[in-house]
Formats: sequence, C-alpha cells, structure tokens
Amino acid sequence: MSKRINIQWQPDKNDKTPIYKQIVNYFSMMIVEGHWSLDENLPTQRDLAKQFNVNRSTIVSAMDELMASGIIETAYGGGTKITNNSWPLLAYSTFTNWRDFISAGPFKSNQEIIQTINKLEFEDYIRLGTGELDPSLFPKKLYDEVMANISKDLISLNYLEPLGLLDLRKELVKRLALEGIKANEKQILITSGSLQALQLISLCMLNDQSIVYTEAPSYIKSLQVFQSSGINLAPLSMDDDGLKYWQINTSRLKNKRNQIIYTIPDFHNPTSVSMSSLRREELLKFSLKYNLPIIEDSAYSELFFDKKKTKPLRANSNNNNVLYIGTVSKTLAPGLRVGWIVGPESVIERLGDVKMQVDYGASSISQLIVKEFFASGLYDKHLIMIRKELKMRRDNAIKAIDKYLGDQVSYRIPKGGFYIWLEFKKKISTEKIFQKALENNILLNPGNIYDFENNNCIRLSYSYEDSNTLNKAIKILSEIIEDI
Ligand code: PMP
Repeated sequence: MSKRINIQWQPDKNDKTPIYKQIVNYFSMMIVEGHWSLDENLPTQRDLAKQFNVNRSTIVSAMDELMASGIIETAYGGGTKITNNSWPLLAYSTFTNWRDFISAGPFKSNQEIIQTINKLEFEDYIRLGTGELDPSLFPKKLYDEVMANISKDLISLNYLEPLGLLDLRKELVKRLALEGIKANEKQILITSGSLQALQLISLCMLNDQSIVYTEAPSYIKSLQVFQSSGINLAPLSMDDDGLKYWQINTSRLKNKRNQIIYTIPDFHNPTSVSMSSLRREELLKFSLKYNLPIIEDSAYSELFFDKKKTKPLRANSNNNNVLYIGTVSKTLAPGLRVGWIVGPESVIERLGDVKMQVDYGASSISQLIVKEFFASGLYDKHLIMIRKELKMRRDNAIKAIDKYLGDQVSYRIPKGGFYIWLEFKKKISTEKIFQKALENNILLNPGNIYDFENNNCIRLSYSYEDSNTLNKAIKILSEIIEDI
C-alpha cells in the first residue's frame, strides 16, 4: 500500500500571494526537492481543505494547476499521486533534489513502523510499549539536591578528556567492583548513551565481513546500528535460561575474524528472560574456546525485583573476552545520554579516540550530574524506590493481563526490567493490532520490530503508564483482539 504524505505545513493567510498559489508553490518544492516521492499519495482534497482551513475550491484550483503542469495526477482507484513524468518536466528547475542526497549515506532508515512510533510518542496516546520510566517517577527532589551540589563547584563546562569525566569513571570503578568487575579508570569510556557504545564498536571493530550473533528477538534488531555498516546479524533462539549459544555454527568460526556475540543477559529487551548463572558460565567457556568475544549489554541489570542480581559475564576472572556496556537511561533518565563501556585498555583507547572525532565527548553537565548521583548515594536510594514501584506495576500488569487477556496469551513473569513479552495463542497480525490500537488511542510495539521473522507477539511495557491507565488499555486491547 502507498504511504500517505503527512503534511506539517500551513499556508500563511497574511501573505499577499493567493493561498491556492502558496499551495502550488509548496507542493512543487516538496516534490522537486525530493521530500515526497513517487510512491506516496497526497491527502484527499477534503482533508487538505480541513487541514489548511480553506474552502474546497481553493484546493481544487491548486490541484488543477499542479495537474496541468504534470506534477500530480489522479491515481488509479481514486486519490492523487505524484506522477512519473515530473522529473524531466522539472529538470530545468533551480531546486536541489535532496532525495538523492538523503539516501546517499551509509546509514539505513529506521523501520517505517518505528518512525511512526517515534513520532506518535509525542502525541496524545496511551503508551503501552514505551521503554522509559513514567515521568511521574522522575526524582525531582533528588535532582534539585544534585544540581545544587554541582552548581556550588561549577567553574567550567569545557570539553572533558577523551574517556570522559575522571571522577565519574572513578565512581564507576567502585560500583563495578561491587558487582565483581575489576576495572581501572582507563578501562572505562563514557559514551553518549549506551547506544553510542554499540555504534562505536560497529564503527571501529567490525566490518562488512563480520557476524554479530544475538538473541532472537532482540532490541538490537530494532536498530540499524550494525546493519548500516554491512554487518550481518545472526539470530540465536532462547530458552528460559537465555540464549542457546550452541546454535552457533562453530565450523564458521574457525577461519573468520571479527565475529562477536551481543547479549542482554539481564531482563532482556524485549522478552524479559534473564540468563542463568550456569548458562553464563557455559557461554563464557564457549566464547574463550572459540575466541568469540561478547558484548554484554546491562541496560536493565539494576532493575531486579526479588533477589540480588546474577553476576555479570564480565565479572568472571577470564573477563577480557567481554565488553561490558551500561547506562543510566533505564534508572535515572534517558535524556541525560550517559552510558559507558568497560573493556581492555587498548579497545577503550581506540573507541575513545573515535568518540572524540564523532562528538568530542558526552555532555559535561550530564556527566557531572551522574557522578554526583553516584557519589552522594542518591542513585542507590533512587534505585530502591524504582525497583519497588516497577515491581508493583508488574504485579498490576499481570493481574490485568490475566483478567482481560487470560486465555488468549502466554507470557513469562518478568523478574525485573520493564517488559512483558505477550504471545497471542491464535495466529494474528500484530500490525493489524497496532493499527486498531491506534484508532483507540493506544500506541504499542509489535513484536516483529525486534525479530528476524514474523512473530505473534507484542512487547508490553509496564514502566511508563500508571496502573489505572494500563488496566484500561489492556481491557481495550482484549476487545480489539476479539474483534480481529
Ligand atoms: N540497550 C538496551 C537493551 C536498551 O533497551 C536500550 C534502550 N532502549 C539501550 C541499550 C540504549 O539506551 P541508551 O542509549 O539510552 O543508554
């Protein structure tokens, strides 16, 4: 199906140019500069009249002129589309065709459905898929305290050294030691969010011959961070103990370099599975035997509900095989854009050098904030509150699912993190559920976004909406599913 063009522009009623002419000029520019492409449909005349708040006759005049100049034509089956022959006709135009430039770089576009979600998250929808904390859990008082402390000693916000704020790295050395990870300050690079750590790895350490083995489904599949550099992702299925590393074809490992495993061992995104201690031990042994390094993404590891968390892969004494990635995005605030990567000094120095070329360091003020949160003990205090709150929300979500969707879905009860991976028992199009949910003012994340093949799942997040809203939305969801 053709994509419908989404127009954000409005004619200027104070401008002397007639409105129909402004519309002609705007449409011509969007088409010739390549912002709208041949496979896209224009909104209906009625919708345009409503959106621009003008008479239908104004739109008709504008469309007549655009049709006369051959830029648009009536589409088969109704509607209006941009014509095939618009390019030669406009070849003498002084406009630049930006579309040629937009698609020239190596970075791939987001999946269309993710682009839609990214936009709609800022409109008025109930957000059942969002992987962020509820804004009402923002620790305003703690921030006030932290900001006041920082501001006392703040004398400059100049660039920081290549690996990031030394005092923050010193705090991290202490925190990592508590988890059994031995690292010095030179083994830690502060990144602009943990996503940048993945980006740097893909830029510096892998190439288009590389394979990244990962859980299927996985957060990493929802991004193009590896694929944009031509790196192949290879899916490994999971059981209740984590990824099944033995599915890796070891004969492929022998003569090939630059292969790596990417895993989210704690409260995995999107399935919430945690890797058992035994699986971690086995995976490490396997990784050492075949010289296959591991990227350990610990984004949710501090958000455990019951017992103390399982030891990180990097905590093992043979840990130089593991690059460990962390973030404050899921605990404090993603907008701080502070993450880190821990690894051998040579790797960290190389990544730090490239980071200086990419953005010259993560935000200095954000690094000071995180350092102060760590050093003051307020971070740990906040974590206790967040874990308790998330646990309550998880319990509520499970009750609502059992009540409204009970016999239609199966799921695992998460022991931490943000997500419940709901699998529908009947074969169902999750894209259809997504569309129907939108019509009911609910935004959700279909499971296909994260997977290597179509699945029957959605990623439900209990971290963002409060319990009452979540209950209402799950009830509506159950009605939608009955109707499909
Ligand atoms: N890893 C995982 C598993 C995530 O879920 C996310 C955020 N959704 C990230 C990394 C990236 O987080 P950030 O860049 O904000 O640190």
